[in-house]
Amino acid sequence: GFALNPRAVGIEEEGAFAVLDRALALKAAGRPIINLGIGQPDFDPPGHVLEAAAKAAREGPHGYTSPVGMPALREAVAADLTGRFGVGVHADEVVIVPGGKVTIFLAAMLFGGEGAEILYPDPGFPPYREAIAFSGAKAVPYPIREDRDFGFDAEEVLSLVTPATRLVIINSPANPTGGVVPRAELDALAAGLEAHPHVAVLSDEIYSHLVYDDADFASLLAYPSLRDRVILLDGWSKTFAMTGWRLGYGVWPKALVPQIRKIITITHSCVANVAQIAGLAAVTGPREPVERFRRTFAERREAVVAGLNALPGVTCRAPGGAFYAFPNVTGTGLSSAELAERLLEEADIALIPGESFGANGRGYLRLSYAADMAQIEEALARMGEFLAVNG
Ligand code: PLP
Repeated sequence: GFALNPRAVGIEEEGAFAVLDRALALKAAGRPIINLGIGQPDFDPPGHVLEAAAKAAREGPHGYTSPVGMPALREAVAADLTGRFGVGVHADEVVIVPGGKVTIFLAAMLFGGEGAEILYPDPGFPPYREAIAFSGAKAVPYPIREDRDFGFDAEEVLSLVTPATRLVIINSPANPTGGVVPRAELDALAAGLEAHPHVAVLSDEIYSHLVYDDADFASLLAYPSLRDRVILLDGWSKTFAMTGWRLGYGVWPKALVPQIRKIITITHSCVANVAQIAGLAAVTGPREPVERFRRTFAERREAVVAGLNALPGVTCRAPGGAFYAFPNVTGTGLSSAELAERLLEEADIALIPGESFGANGRGYLRLSYAADMAQIEEALARMGEFLAVNG
């Protein structure tokens, strides 16, 4: 065998992609698989975005762009955020990256390393933990709690801060729970962090356009006391149904942008021109498609939550955002791992066991409702039949 970097070998693959591969293989073999596993919108990007991209593919530019992104795109993102949150965001704070995920990796590389500690949510998006560990830092989980509508207790998060803590990762609306952290909890976190000026915050707001009913979403970028130490993560994947275009951005404290730029120049150099031009059309164009996506998700959310709560042994809180439901299945008598496995093998439904998102996810399933209503209803019916026999 080869002698390999143990940190690289130690990375755990994101469970959602393993489930996706299996679901696609079973489907190719003729099984009527319903895929509620992967988290990507089932819509096409807005038409004007595709047209702008097609034109760019024909006419260029075709060369490298700045490592941190095309100036026009950085300006457009800054203007968009300034308008949304009422805080001045400048183009030179914006770093365009190939997918929202990349900002997590860059932040882990920059803040991590031996001796550092980074706090992350459990259950939470798996790349947080893996990127922290890959950097050599200690990954310190803080609990996400069902009885707080899948938010956190700011006091509990703050109690984990030590002199070695360099970064806290926050995700709202959240994957895998759909939880939206209430404004009051963010207020408490921001107030508490004033005593820890050495700690930066990575705020993953990639689902910020998918918030339902009266969920009280607030951006950490809009907190004046944190403004010089928040890194905002967002992008095009979920908002504009552009997961495969690989386009995202970070808003960084200005002093860190040259550091990030260096890492980019030794890795991907820049994001594909066509993707950046498509992203520019999305940010500057009509927003009607974004609202249409949101309304469609909102309708499905109602159906999923009602359907899950009607199943024996299953309870599900209405998630405030994103496109995931995170039902508690402890009442079924089956473990979440066994339930996920058997639903795939015996009922042809792909979904993800909660423990794929951390130890606190045990006892839950993650269902993505980025699937059409007929599939959602069929999946709920099949789950009902399965649990009637096996629950
Ligand atoms: N952050 C969270 C919480 C996510 O759920 C995802 C995608 O699933 C991302 C970031 C990354 O998205 P992208 O596909 O733009 O890398």
